[in-house]
Amino acid sequence: MTPNWLGEPFAFKDNKLSLTRKVHKRLLAEAQEAFPYEYSALLIGQKAAITDHIPMTGSTLDKHAFSFDGPGFLRAIALIRESNMQWLGVLHTHPHTLPVPSQRDRDGWHYHSLSYWIVSLCGSEPLWRMYQWQDGDFQQRSYTITEEE
Ligand SMILES: [Zn+2]
Repeated sequence: MTPNWLGEPFAFKDNKLSLTRKVHKRLLAEAQEAFPYEYSALLIGQKAAITDHIPMTGSTLDKHAFSFDGPGFLRAIALIRESNMQWLGVLHTHPHTLPVPSQRDRDGWHYHSLSYWIVSLCGSEPLWRMYQWQDGDFQQRSYTITEEE
């Protein structure tokens, strides 16, 4: 059985996956602050609505490896469970390349029900892309940004 803290944000046919503007803004600010290093975060909320995030500080030291440090990841999951939220996705930056999943991203991704976000900071404007793992690869999906909390 799937634990209830592990979300299925793509399981709601009538509800497109959404992100609040506030979280969008904070993620971008933290991502730009981490530049030129990679930034990553867990995205949390309920059902298909992402309303908060937890930065994963342990993974920003390496210039490309996207990995969760064990204790930090477990702490984050405990926090999600305690607050009755769901883990809905992960986000990481590509400081120097386009927002296209790398082979390492493919190999390292095991939570296939969740959303996978990449923000590229290699151009003059940040580029956001969101993916769903389906049929053995990342498929790009659209999402909405909501104003409410
Ligand atoms: Zn990547």
